[in-house]
Amino acid sequence: MPKQEPFERVRNFDEVALGYPPELAREEAGRCLTCKKPGCVEGCPVGVDIPGFVGFVAEGEFAAAVRKVKETNALPAVCGRVCPQEEQCERNCLLGKKGDPVAIGRLERFVADWEAQQGAGEAPPLPPLNGRRIAIVGSGPAGLTVAADLALKGYEVTMFEALHEAGGVLTYGIPEFRLPKAIVRREVQYVRSLSVDLRLDYVVGKTRTVERLLEEYDAVFVAAGAGLPWFLGIPGENLNGVFSANEYLTRCNLMRGFRFPAWDTPLKRSTRVAVFGGGNVAMDSARTALRLGADEVHIVYRRSKAELPARAEEVENAEEEGVIFDFLTLPVRLIGDDRGWLTGIECRRMELGEPDDSGRRRPVEVPGSEFCLPMDASICAIGNSPNPLIPMTTPGLETGKGGTITADPETGLTSHDRVWAGGDVVTGAATVISAMGAGRRAARAIHAALTGGG
Ligand code: FAD
Repeated sequence: MPKQEPFERVRNFDEVALGYPPELAREEAGRCLTCKKPGCVEGCPVGVDIPGFVGFVAEGEFAAAVRKVKETNALPAVCGRVCPQEEQCERNCLLGKKGDPVAIGRLERFVADWEAQQGAGEAPPLPPLNGRRIAIVGSGPAGLTVAADLALKGYEVTMFEALHEAGGVLTYGIPEFRLPKAIVRREVQYVRSLSVDLRLDYVVGKTRTVERLLEEYDAVFVAAGAGLPWFLGIPGENLNGVFSANEYLTRCNLMRGFRFPAWDTPLKRSTRVAVFGGGNVAMDSARTALRLGADEVHIVYRRSKAELPARAEEVENAEEEGVIFDFLTLPVRLIGDDRGWLTGIECRRMELGEPDDSGRRRPVEVPGSEFCLPMDASICAIGNSPNPLIPMTTPGLETGKGGTITADPETGLTSHDRVWAGGDVVTGAATVISAMGAGRRAARAIHAALTGGG
């Protein structure tokens, strides 16, 4: 797929990947073997009929292709851009055994973008309202999926969102150059076109508790994500210039910090930036820092390149753009000047030992290997957990490891009567498509519970 050249794109926030032109999309779709038992569908957490939609693309019937995808996926333009297809649908593609799998994600993106270019998308016909009301807490991928699925079954759905814009991490976390906000808005608009009511600036647990919502609604689905950032717990984390990835990316994306002063939110312009972590969040933070004008950006990661959890495509993009990777490096202390600003990071070298519980080789510190990286900003992107507000204000709602809400993996039902949950708030920080899959299963379970059926 064509993309902006690295030297050009590090100076702008426009999308890096440019998408397939129609003839290339048809050619790529024409490679599909339309397997009798399509492994790609099994690999998709929301079960998109992949051979079905790819077949329509090959024939040039793009409108039919969009309809096919949207039967099971309300957010195709998002999934086509950020899903880890290489570990899901594309991993199961027969063609991938000997060469390149069909580029399913890129085709999904193509059909969604094609629809957008045609003007307003088609909203499917809605059944009459069935008299039941559903409250959804959070408007990220999990909340949006439940909202769409239940609206299409005749429920009156209200989605409560703490922030001033809907979309969850798609809006406040993933940067514009990877997922343009106009696309997220369009997908949110599609869900709203299904008569879903969206209440913004509404913090459930503060504005109103889950218990109060249950007085008015037949069921509550909690999809509040995992927005509480972790820090390293090392000396110096209170210095100026030290950010969590959440704060850094929210200022830039949601608050449009990259357009300061045209927009109100300032974002510190740093010259040397260290990002701690090796996942998608770390890559996004590092690439954002470069675009904000940093001279040098380092990813400081305690394991090796082989263990990087970020998508390979995003690591490659970061490398092309000039991000420097300091592998097997552990930050142990943040050093500041007498005015309280970060000036450097004391690090220690690591080496890989035996595999740990995750199956990855455990990093072990090398004694006496300390060295200093001069830096004026650091961004911590080592993970997140759910905000405790909802469990704290909902008696009887059980939580587990890391403050996640305990819910049945098949149905999303929690320990609280009439309360379901899904997405990152249950699993801890995961992926867009796994949140959508959880939403899909919960929507089915809520429907079954409220209609007394199976
Ligand atoms: P979220 O998207 O977190 O949405 C939760 C929503 O609930 C938020 O809008 C929040 O404001 C709202 N909320 C929270 N508390 C309340 C409350 N009390 N009342 C009302 N509303 C509330 N995944 C991928 O698959 N591919 C990627 O490339 C990728 N990149 C990522 C990059 C970054 C920077 C980040 C942070 C994550 C990335 N992820 C990626 C992970 C993915 O975005 C999440 O797994 C997914 O968004 C989780 O969806 P969710 O609906 O569970 O929660």
